[in-house]
Amino acid sequence: MKEMSLRARQKQAVLQLAPELVSGCDGLIVTHPPDVRYLSGFTGSAGVLVLSRAKRATLYTDGRYASQAKAEAIGTKVVILPKGVLAAACEGAASAGITRCGFDAANTTVAALAAMKKALPAKIRRSFFSPSGPIVAGLREVKDAGEIETMRRAALLGCALYDRMLGFIAPGMTESEVAAELEHAARLAGAEAMSFETIVASGERSSLPHGRASAARLPRRGFVTLDFGVVVGGYCSDMTRTLRLGKATQEEFDVYHAVLEAQEAAVAAIAPGVTVGDVDEAARSILRREKLDTYFSHSTGHGVGLEIHEGPRVATEQKETLKRGMVITVEPGVYIPGRFGVRIEDMVLVTATGGEILTPSVKAWTQL
Ligand code: ZN
Ligand code: ZN
Repeated sequence: MKEMSLRARQKQAVLQLAPELVSGCDGLIVTHPPDVRYLSGFTGSAGVLVLSRAKRATLYTDGRYASQAKAEAIGTKVVILPKGVLAAACEGAASAGITRCGFDAANTTVAALAAMKKALPAKIRRSFFSPSGPIVAGLREVKDAGEIETMRRAALLGCALYDRMLGFIAPGMTESEVAAELEHAARLAGAEAMSFETIVASGERSSLPHGRASAARLPRRGFVTLDFGVVVGGYCSDMTRTLRLGKATQEEFDVYHAVLEAQEAAVAAIAPGVTVGDVDEAARSILRREKLDTYFSHSTGHGVGLEIHEGPRVATEQKETLKRGMVITVEPGVYIPGRFGVRIEDMVLVTATGGEILTPSVKAWTQL
């Protein structure tokens, strides 16, 4: 797995425009900021990239980003505009010899498409833009060596923060206090941001799959689910652990171990060529055996990278196959409404032969 240059990524994106893959498009307009970053290195929020078979990639941005764009978008032609970046990029595409220009419909609003068309000469307005599918999102699913290295750092920082948290978490603290401690430490340790709003869900609230940290106090007896991630070098980490405060009932102990077994079975199923549906099923079948599958109300995982949720979606009957270099999460959970919930999540790198866990923090029953 080599590190890929920005030029190589741009070339790969253009290759995806081959007639047998995307009929008729010989250019691509890229507006989704993570996609622009992936292909050009530019990290600003207002940039539009135009790729074509014939010409060098061009990044359009505005004056606020002039020096940043030139420093970051190495090897890409940079055009700085006073305003109207999107319209100028469309005009640029139309005058760059592109006859039909692809765009990612999933990341283009109806209003943006109308504005894009309006920027074109009337005679090509109807035919110029054509939805080309998520070309860049597809490329981003497979990480190169440099991205994997960055993601390892993000994941290991998450683990260090979790280990630190084990030293201070205690009954009586509010969920928000736990999140604040964690996030404060994350920043001091070099995180650029959290990947998403930190989830701390304790006691009965652990039965909420997305229980954001609230003013609720951690109980003397109950589960605490922590789901959080940090951004390092632009890349997100994502992990979940469920801790036990105080003594548990046999049922709580059994549910925890069923989720753990399901999680480990799904991780063990990961290998190049395996479908994501089969990974999902590896987790789900364990919970079915334990008659807990009806409480597993979401998919098993998702790709992660520049965005917290990327392809592939690791869900029931999904046919996409895993490839070496993909990074996915494996996060089965059981949520018994009004009572308690358990979720365990790792980030897993698809290697040449299987899956490597990037978040090796302890998953064994942890009672505080
Ligand atoms: Zn998560
Ligand atoms: Zn996740």
